[in-house]
Amino acid sequence: MDALILIDIQNDFLPGGALAVPDGDQVIDVANRVRAAFEMIAATQDWHPANHGSFASNHPGGEVGELAELDGLPQVLWPDHCIQQSLGAEFAAELDSSRWSRVVPKGCDVNVDSYSGFFDNGQRAATELHDFLQSIDVDAVFVMGLATDYCVKFTALDAVKLGYRTHLILDGCRGVDLQPGDIERAVEEMRNAGVAITSSSELMERKENYR
Ligand SMILES: [Zn+2]
Repeated sequence: MDALILIDIQNDFLPGGALAVPDGDQVIDVANRVRAAFEMIAATQDWHPANHGSFASNHPGGEVGELAELDGLPQVLWPDHCIQQSLGAEFAAELDSSRWSRVVPKGCDVNVDSYSGFFDNGQRAATELHDFLQSIDVDAVFVMGLATDYCVKFTALDAVKLGYRTHLILDGCRGVDLQPGDIERAVEEMRNAGVAITSSSELMERKENYR
């Protein structure tokens, strides 16, 4: 079975949010459109405690965008974002969540960040996503959301490693591009790892032909 995995389409990642991804709001329509093609939809939710170690504010002298260390792992320092129970952590209001099967929180451990929807950045602990997909016999995943060069990329790469046929819905993603070219490099890295790059229109056409 195919599953759609929506990555972090939350207020803080939209224009006006604490960690706004440029044009991040553009993915909402795509998400609402492609959902018709899937029986199984999961959404990840960045869900940090206020004292999370990825926040620059929790590193004395730390600057946003700087590379620091967190419990032995390299860590980009971010502005405070997606704090549990905050408005910023909520899904975009226009996002249609009516047929979602599962919301997967990530980034809940203070001492490690979690870009991937499957594992934390140290690959020490798994979220509930893989178990859930296995329990309903998912063998192919279609990934889209925010941000291309972080959570989307690491989710797609882990999906390949876990044995899923993995697709990226490219027009359903937007990236941070902290260093110019990061987005392009992320897409290339996914492609090289075996992720099939597709678009929402291609996907909808293909699904139409099955019927
Ligand atoms: Zn985060």
